[in-house]
Amino acid sequence: MGKSGKSKKKKLKVLIAASECAPFVKVGGLADVVGSLPKALEKINVDVRVVIPYYKEVQSSKFKVQSCNSKFKVKFGRAEEVGVYESRLPGSEVPIYFLENQKYLSGGGVYFSKDAFVSSQEEIRRFAFFSKAVVEFIKVSERKPDVVHCNDWHTGLVPGLIKSSKLGHSATVFTIHNLANQGFAELSILKNLNSITPESELIRWDAEDDNLDLMLQGVTAADVVSTVSPSYAKEILTPEFGEGLHQVLKAREARLFGILNGIDYQIWNPEMDQKIEFNYGLKEGPAGKVGNKIYLQKELGLTVNPEVPLIGVVTRLAEQKGIDILLEALKGILAFGAQLVILGVGDPKIEKELRIKNEELREKGSFKAIIRFDEELAHRIYAASDLFLMPSKFEPCGLVQIIAMRYGALPIVRETGGLKDTVEDAKTGFVFREYSAEALLEVVERAAGRFGVENIEFRQMISRAMQADFSWERSAGEYLQLYQRALEYKNLQSA
Ligand code: ADP
Repeated sequence: MGKSGKSKKKKLKVLIAASECAPFVKVGGLADVVGSLPKALEKINVDVRVVIPYYKEVQSSKFKVQSCNSKFKVKFGRAEEVGVYESRLPGSEVPIYFLENQKYLSGGGVYFSKDAFVSSQEEIRRFAFFSKAVVEFIKVSERKPDVVHCNDWHTGLVPGLIKSSKLGHSATVFTIHNLANQGFAELSILKNLNSITPESELIRWDAEDDNLDLMLQGVTAADVVSTVSPSYAKEILTPEFGEGLHQVLKAREARLFGILNGIDYQIWNPEMDQKIEFNYGLKEGPAGKVGNKIYLQKELGLTVNPEVPLIGVVTRLAEQKGIDILLEALKGILAFGAQLVILGVGDPKIEKELRIKNEELREKGSFKAIIRFDEELAHRIYAASDLFLMPSKFEPCGLVQIIAMRYGALPIVRETGGLKDTVEDAKTGFVFREYSAEALLEVVERAAGRFGVENIEFRQMISRAMQADFSWERSAGEYLQLYQRALEYKNLQSA
C-alpha cells in the first residue's frame, strides 16, 4: 500500500500489432476492433499501444501523424530502413505507431487484391516484412511490452520471431479474426526471415506442403490463441469450419479462448452520430428513423415510402457473406414489397452481378447496390433501415449486426458463429439456420410480416435491440485475463 492508501499496481504493457486500425485505415471489422478495444483497455489501466504499417492511404488522410525521428534497420534479404510515426487513437490517449518503408509497407493499397481470400506473394511479403519490423521495433524501443497481441495471418510470424529473437520479456497472444484467409507464403520467404530457424520442427512440418501458412505459424507459436466469439471458438475445432487447421487447433484447445467483440458506442450512436441526417434514440424508437429512411430513399432513387420495410446490407463482397443465396432470393424478397439496399465492395465477380441487378431492377425503385467503401453512407444505411440482412455462411463475430441493433434495424442473421452469440430470434432480430435461398426467403417473410412502425411487437423488438449492450467494457476485462494467462504460460515455459 502507498501512503495514499491505494496500492500502486504496475500497469501491464501491451502492444497490439495488426494490418488495419479504424479510423486511420479500414477494410472490415478488424479495423473496428483494433481501433476500439485499446480504448477500453486504457480505461481499465492497461498501458496499451498499437502498431500498423504506414500505408500511403494513412499518409494522405486527414489524421495528424508525427514523425518520431526514429529509424531502424530490418534485415529482410537486404537491410531495409524503417521509419516510425506516431499518433493517438481519437478520443483517447492510446499511442498508435506507424512503420514506414517505401518498398514493403508504404506503397499501394492496404491489401493488393480486392478479394480478401486471395493474397498475392507481394502482399504476403509485405506482412512478413511488417512482422519482422514489429519485432525489430520492440528491440529498439525503450518500452518493452509484457504482451504482444497479434491479429490474423498478417502478424502470424510475430510470435515465432519473438521466441527466436530471445525477446524473453514478451508473451504473445494471437487472435484469429477470420480463419478462412491464412496467408500461404512461398518457402523462399524463409531466406528473408533468417531469425526464424528453418530447422525448427514447426517450420519443417508446415513446409512439408511447400508453403508456409502464416496463420498456422501464429496459432502454433503464440502463448495463447483467441478468436472473436465463443461459438466460433468451438466451430473452428470441426472440419466444417476449421479451414484445414481444426486438428492443430484441437491440439491447442486448452489455450484457445473465444472473446466476443464489442463496438465503440461513441462512434456508433444514433443520438450523436454526425454522419446521419436525423438523430434519434430509444425514446423515439422506429419513429425516429423515418426521416432517415425518406432521406436515403431519395438519395438512392428508391420509391419514397416509409410504409415499406427497408432492408439494409453493408458488407465486404466475399463468398463468406452469403451473397449467393441473397442474390438467389432477391426477387422473392422484393416481391414481399420490401426495398433492399446493398453497400459493398470486394470480389469482382460479385460486384459485376450486383451491377447487372442494378440494371435489371432499375425501374422498380426497390433495389440499389452501391459498389464502394463509404463510411458515411454506411452510417446513413444503418439509420434508415428497418431490417438488416447478414446471411453469412460463417461469421467469426460480425459487427454489422451489432451496429444495426444499436440503430434500431433488426438483424436477420444465419445461426452461425458470432451471429448466434449476439442475436436472439424474435427478441432482438430474426435467426435462420439452413444455408439456402429458401430458408432466407422464409425468414425475410417472417420479418417483413412483423414490420410496422405502429406494430407493438415490432416496436418492442426494436427497443430490446437498441438496448442490447455489446460495449467493449465486458470483453476488455476478458482480454486482460487472456494477457495474464499468456504471461503465465510464457513464464511456465521459460522456468
Ligand atoms: P468483416 O470484418 O468480416 O468485414 P464485420 O461485420 O465484422 O465484417 O465488420 C464489417 C465492418 O466494415 C463494419 O463496420 C461495416 O460497417 C464496415 N463495412 C463493410 N463494408 C463496408 C462498405 N462498403 N462501406 C463502409 N463500411 C463497410
